[in-house]
Amino acid sequence: MKVNSTSARPPPRILRQTRQPVDRPFDTFMVLIEENRRYLSGFTGQDGHFDESAGMLFITEHRQLLVTDSRYELQARTEAPEFEILCYKNDLASSLCDILEDLKTKRLGFEAARLSFRNHQRLQEQLNKRGLKITMVPTENLVETLRAVKDPHELDAIRRSLALSESVFDRFRVKLRPGLTEKALAWTLEKGLREAGADSLAFPPIVATGPNAAMPHAVPTERVVSESEPLLFDWGARLNGYCSDISRTLVLGTPDATFAAVYQVVRDAQQMAIDAIKPGVTTRDVDKIARDHIASKGFGERFGHSLGHGVGIATHEGPHLSPLRSTTLEIGMVTTVEPGIYIPGWGGVRLENMVAVTENGAVVLNRSPV
Ligand code: ZN
Repeated sequence: MKVNSTSARPPPRILRQTRQPVDRPFDTFMVLIEENRRYLSGFTGQDGHFDESAGMLFITEHRQLLVTDSRYELQARTEAPEFEILCYKNDLASSLCDILEDLKTKRLGFEAARLSFRNHQRLQEQLNKRGLKITMVPTENLVETLRAVKDPHELDAIRRSLALSESVFDRFRVKLRPGLTEKALAWTLEKGLREAGADSLAFPPIVATGPNAAMPHAVPTERVVSESEPLLFDWGARLNGYCSDISRTLVLGTPDATFAAVYQVVRDAQQMAIDAIKPGVTTRDVDKIARDHIASKGFGERFGHSLGHGVGIATHEGPHLSPLRSTTLEIGMVTTVEPGIYIPGWGGVRLENMVAVTENGAVVLNRSPV
């Protein structure tokens, strides 16, 4: 099926849910998080800086509003035809009071992770000034939980995004030579993604070589690449609004004994985790399988980050394959599986694939071999 920005847009599923008589502790749901707003409405406006906003949704049992400003009006009308579009002109907090009054809101659900303390205060002050008795109800992960399970359109969009990222790397890796710098390599990768049609990068590419590869989130430097040292790459595209995320670790010339041993442990840990993924299993258990294997080979202290994360409209979203959080895997979830071993002074190895959870277990979405 052809995917363009319209067909890749997921349907606003929460609306159908909120229209049913469900037991929610609020009658109006205010959506501020950019990815959630896009997911529910199709509106692709971007917030920019953390204290800026391209718009917000208000969802009640009977109405759905997208509130934005003049910069986004035309875009909002085109992209979110199922929403009433309202443009605020003056003070946002006082406009919000008008809207909430119109919606007859008594209990306002808001995303606690996004509404700043300052804006919460301002809104509360305005409500008090107007004598509006509205209870503010903090919520968490309502839309994120829906986003974690992908529909076939979304899966298709993710596959295409990943295919683009992989094809760019296939062309990139044959050009790898000693003497190039990390920064130059990162730029080649970045340029390749854009030239291949990515909307944007999913995140700035990581190119970490030699000892720098001991830092899981190293920033590319002027370091020059040599033979026989680990070269760690972590990159991804955003295409039709959906992200991909992949890591590979390579060596030019002959790898040293450490590389061969470490690589094998990471690869086995990844495979064991992928084999364990199926509906009904918890993310913590999957993480533990990889972590225990790495620990059993003596590298327990060298794997600090979580095993993986969901990927979709955001590069990092639910489910989280981590010892700290546990989610039960469901059909349609997409997650990375990215164990790593990092040894200060030497370097590191991380291998990252993306998998989809199906009835029969994990299906690896990557086409290139690890
Ligand atoms: Zn990742």
